[in-house]
Amino acid sequence: MKEGLEAIGLKMRFPVGKGRWLHALDGVGFNLAPREALGVVGESGSGKSTLARVVARLADQTDGAIRFDGADIGAVPAARFGRDPARRAIQLVFQSADDALNPAFTAARNIATGLGAGVRDDRRVAEVAAEVGLPAEHLGKRPHQLSGGQQARVGIARALIADPRLLILDEPTASLDVSVQAAVLKLIDALRRSRDVALLFISHDLDVVRLMCERIMVLYLGRVAEIGAVDAVLGTPRHPYTRALVAARPGHGRRPLALAGEAQSAIDPPEAACLFHTRCPLAVDRCRTERPLLRDIAGRSVACHRAEETAAASQAVSEPAGY
Ligand code: SF4
Repeated sequence: MKEGLEAIGLKMRFPVGKGRWLHALDGVGFNLAPREALGVVGESGSGKSTLARVVARLADQTDGAIRFDGADIGAVPAARFGRDPARRAIQLVFQSADDALNPAFTAARNIATGLGAGVRDDRRVAEVAAEVGLPAEHLGKRPHQLSGGQQARVGIARALIADPRLLILDEPTASLDVSVQAAVLKLIDALRRSRDVALLFISHDLDVVRLMCERIMVLYLGRVAEIGAVDAVLGTPRHPYTRALVAARPGHGRRPLALAGEAQSAIDPPEAACLFHTRCPLAVDRCRTERPLLRDIAGRSVACHRAEETAAASQAVSEPAGY
């Protein structure tokens, strides 16, 4: 039995009328070992949140497989997954309290929902609340009576009470003040290590991913652009899109790779093309007619026809000497 998470060729399409389809995921595949942390980055519309919902079995993929500790969980319809034994092992921490918490429930009752509908275990709720640093006096409060940081702790406790082996975190600190973000990230990292849980960590912040994860997967329009060790991918990006994301980080000090043109639409995109070719300064004819497949290069996998020459070609196109 292969342990951990395995996603194979995940596709997710949504009808947009007149026989047309929005391709939110277009063949995404990756592995996540037990206790490993994989960051998922990409612009809005890259498919990050759709991937989180599909892997957490809150939505059914259009195609592809998901295996967890050898079980074919992708074959279990999302509507039935609540009764599947793997449900408790895979927990999703939502981006905002509005999605995660019932406004009519106290913090204690919201945390207890992680045990299953109607299950009550006050001792366990108190234990996990203490573990996430939520003072006992807050357990009787409703979400609107809590600060953003306290709501985040309730959401994390709700996921942890089920003793998961995989936590999926969808921008877990995006709605928090900067001053609270660091404390919540520190908490997640400490819990991951004390509980030996794997993380699928979705974020738009490359620096946070570098801090929290060993590996990173860059998505572009529902396809994997680059995946590998976080230091390798962010230190020497080989896909021009990764390179643009890295260079655009605030305070990075590097001159961004100039992206030209409009982004390709995710509605019925061309199958036989690189979807980045409309913006890529390195695009050649082949990029418009042949889809680049993931290839192993320099310690990571990259979907780019020009991955071997990306660093030098990028420099020649848009960066000053001495970069
Ligand atoms: Fe750019 Fe071509 Fe590589 Fe796509 S395959 S990222 S268009 S160079």
